[in-house]
Amino acid sequence: RGSAGAKDIPFNRPGSLTRVYAVASGKGGVGKSSVTVNLAAAMAASGLRVGIVDADVHGFSIPGLLGITQPPTRVDEMILPPVAYGIKTISIGMFVAGNAPVAWRGPMLHRALEQFLTDVYFGDLDVLFLDLPPGTGDIAISVAQLLPQSEILVVTTPQAAAADVAERAGSVASQTGQSVAGVIENMSWLQLPTGERMELFGSGGGDIVAKRLSEALGKDIPLLGSIPLDVDLRTGGDSGAPVVLSEAALVEGSAGAELRRIA
Ligand code: ADP
Repeated sequence: RGSAGAKDIPFNRPGSLTRVYAVASGKGGVGKSSVTVNLAAAMAASGLRVGIVDADVHGFSIPGLLGITQPPTRVDEMILPPVAYGIKTISIGMFVAGNAPVAWRGPMLHRALEQFLTDVYFGDLDVLFLDLPPGTGDIAISVAQLLPQSEILVVTTPQAAAADVAERAGSVASQTGQSVAGVIENMSWLQLPTGERMELFGSGGGDIVAKRLSEALGKDIPLLGSIPLDVDLRTGGDSGAPVVLSEAALVEGSAGAELRRIA
């Protein structure tokens, strides 16, 4: 079970032009979901048709980051995803009551993801993001099976320890045959009022992950960008209004500006 094509996933149909990015990190809290929604919002604002599948079933946060409170609607056998900022979004968080903790096992997660990909009506998309749970767990393998053409985007912090686990998350690709689109370093520095950059979490993690993955995969894996710590990114997330769409993103060197550039 679970092999691509076992069920009809529209993104796997011959001729599908959707680029699928599976956003991965070694550990939680590095900003994977924040990066996902901001890249998606910037792309949607530029006119692309964008969707997000929140596959981070244990720590789903995408609906909150996009300010989505309305549930999906059902039409016959299909589920219509809510849309926010032009992004069609589905999340396990929309199917559990309140903030009930999700304690699902691997096969159930696989089934949930498969159902999201087959029963949710996304229509034609230019880009689909999958927000993966941290680590190299069952769901990453499921994604590789269900969407073999998906490309992995690795998010890490500059810290060496974070880089190690992020590299492991990325190197799943060599086992699954997926490609790695690149590495994004988050929380890279804090801009001080004096103009200096304070490297709160050290430096070099993104570079290290990109270099090691390049060696492991035998091809050049780019560091796509480095995003500073930025209060506006955090408050935008808390209020469900992605920073890339705000005036804060017009400030050169801000997190919003860098995320827009990467998108
Ligand atoms: P993950 O998906 O990796 O668990 P989140 O995207 O949920 O991480 O981010 C964890 C927390 O850190 C959130 O409160 C988010 O607002 C905050 N955060 C993430 N990136 C930044 C940043 N560059 N600057 C400030 N806060 C950030």
